[in-house]
Amino acid sequence: MENNLSVYNTLTRQKELFVPLNPPLVGMYVCGPTVYGDAHLGHSRPAITFDLLFRYLRHLGYKVRYVRNITDVGHLENDADEGEDKIAKKARLEELEPMEVVQYFTDRYHAAMDKLNVLKPSIEPRASGHIIEQIALVKSILNAGMGYESKGSVYFDVEKYNQKNNYGILSGRKIEDLLSNTRELEGQDDKRNSFDFALWKKAQPEHIMRWPSDWSDGFPGWHLECSAMSKKYLGEQFDIHGGGMDLLFPHHESEIAQSTVANHKTPAKYWLHNNMITINGQKMGKSLGNFIQLDEFFEGRHPALEKAYSPMTVRFFILQAHYRSPLDFSNEALQASEKGFQRLMKSIVTIEKLVPAGASTVDISGLQARCYEAMNDDLNSPILIAHLFDAVRIINSAADKKESLTESDINLLRNLVHTFVFDILGLLPESDPQAGNQVITSLMNIILDLRREARANKDWATSDRLRDALTQSGISIKDTKDGATWEVE
Ligand code: ZN
Repeated sequence: MENNLSVYNTLTRQKELFVPLNPPLVGMYVCGPTVYGDAHLGHSRPAITFDLLFRYLRHLGYKVRYVRNITDVGHLENDADEGEDKIAKKARLEELEPMEVVQYFTDRYHAAMDKLNVLKPSIEPRASGHIIEQIALVKSILNAGMGYESKGSVYFDVEKYNQKNNYGILSGRKIEDLLSNTRELEGQDDKRNSFDFALWKKAQPEHIMRWPSDWSDGFPGWHLECSAMSKKYLGEQFDIHGGGMDLLFPHHESEIAQSTVANHKTPAKYWLHNNMITINGQKMGKSLGNFIQLDEFFEGRHPALEKAYSPMTVRFFILQAHYRSPLDFSNEALQASEKGFQRLMKSIVTIEKLVPAGASTVDISGLQARCYEAMNDDLNSPILIAHLFDAVRIINSAADKKESLTESDINLLRNLVHTFVFDILGLLPESDPQAGNQVITSLMNIILDLRREARANKDWATSDRLRDALTQSGISIKDTKDGATWEVE
């Protein structure tokens, strides 16, 4: 399959032509959410970024096996190896089974992703469903002499690994710097080095989620699940591994180390990372009070929001920035995106009203190639959107009779915007509640006219039938001197 898609590979720190290992199949693994709370703004960017890549690869004709996991065990509070399991803590506070917490927030996550028109991955494995595979992986790391057991837990020996490999190949960090920068944390004295990471943790007596193993009743380390599940569903080596920049170190660095020891090769050929979202220039965080959930955006329920922003406004806003650039959310920027999105959608309706002319006054021949060029340049969605707005301007000028387009021009423009706006950017027209109200008002006028006619003809049966049918639908009619009024009960 031929394509000119280039992607920025974090592993090699350069843009590279995308050449799949086994075309037409493309294997793609993206780190999914830890499901202990509602989907928030931070979840939307990796989901939309890799949805864009998934859609584009499929558009190019690849058969993409997209695996996005659900972390439901092993992710501890401080993102390293200490603290309570995030899900177990939520379960304890809410007096629920951990898997009730997982099910509830997984369902909520899916609902939010559906609203954002994020396509479902091909496989969505859960960490807790792959304990056997994770234990096997710990064993192969121990057999290779790259792990050690300590008080029922098993750790990865980073220093030993680094003698023949590079723990830092992805993040560029140096182990000497890690040593001097890593604070000795309390309770980590069972590790040889502070930067060693857990492969298996012995469960404390109060820890609910636990499985038997050769070392202890315990649970897998956080980084292990992605190594185990990507291998199970995509093989020892696959094409793309994605995730947010915040996962680059230690999560992805450790994944590479684990898989390299177990399989003697780097797991993925291309590593892609999306940049982070800030809110009014600030990092998002619970303590800062700017941790906005997606539903709060859609309903305008957060004090930081001036109004509600529809899912497509949020999606369009995210796509207006390149995925490797930082993105700052503000009411002002969102309102600008909302206007832009509506203008784009309106032009798609306008195309259908254009009257073809015998000759055209604008040259649109290069537009499609420019759109592909933008996407092929490391998914440059902001440039693509700029080209689409060139199309919008041409459509609007033709509608205003300032320019003329032939029938084939119109077909080309229609095809272009449908392909790029709907299929690739994944944007959808949103129903405007105001437009819905207008339809209802005109329908009611038609019905009330019919009833007035019936009454004028003394056709009481028809008049009553109309009134009763409306009452049954929850609409009440009040006859007045000048005709009738209606209201929804
Ligand atoms: Zn992961």
